[in-house]
Amino acid sequence: PTDINALVDEYIRLAYHGLRAKEKDFNADFKLEADPAVGKVNIVPQEIGRVLLNLFNNAFYATQQKKHQLNGFYQPQVLVSTKAFADKVEIRIRDNGTGISENVKSKIFQPFFTTKPTGEGTGLGLSLSYDIITKGHGGELTVQSQEGEFTEFIIHLTKSAKAM
Ligand code: ADP
Ligand code: MG
Repeated sequence: PTDINALVDEYIRLAYHGLRAKEKDFNADFKLEADPAVGKVNIVPQEIGRVLLNLFNNAFYATQQKKHQLNGFYQPQVLVSTKAFADKVEIRIRDNGTGISENVKSKIFQPFFTTKPTGEGTGLGLSLSYDIITKGHGGELTVQSQEGEFTEFIIHLTKSAKAM
């Protein structure tokens, strides 16, 4: 059993500090709104950590991309929240970056699909993440987005399900 809030906290910091060390003009705010009732869930922490790291990196990337597109004031923000339900826990990763068009949205979970320049993305992150959450943990990974406004990925993990 893994403390989900502690895991999310660890990986959002890992992503943030990794990017800050690597990218010259990286700047973003991040916030974690953790529901203490989430508690511990039976998962493989290295695998869920890998999913979180990819989703956080994607979220920060989308904000930096929007920053470069805009001339005016823009504050990059990534909001992560957890919430406990009767039989499941939810993790939401929301960014105010570029958003995703309907056309792109239909392909993001396909292996090797990327809109990033060569060398910056393999296009494997979301397909791997999808498999880890659904096949590996019996959970759900969904997305909602509005182009130019926001993107939000939502993870559901069943409390009772055993990690396979
Ligand atoms: P990669 O990050 O290597 O491109 P992913 O599988 O992680 O591969 O993501 C696939 C594509 O989904 C990205 O290239 C991008 O077009 C889109 N995407 C993923 N997350 C976001 C996000 N938070 N905001 C905007 N677009 C996103
Ligand atoms: Mg990625």
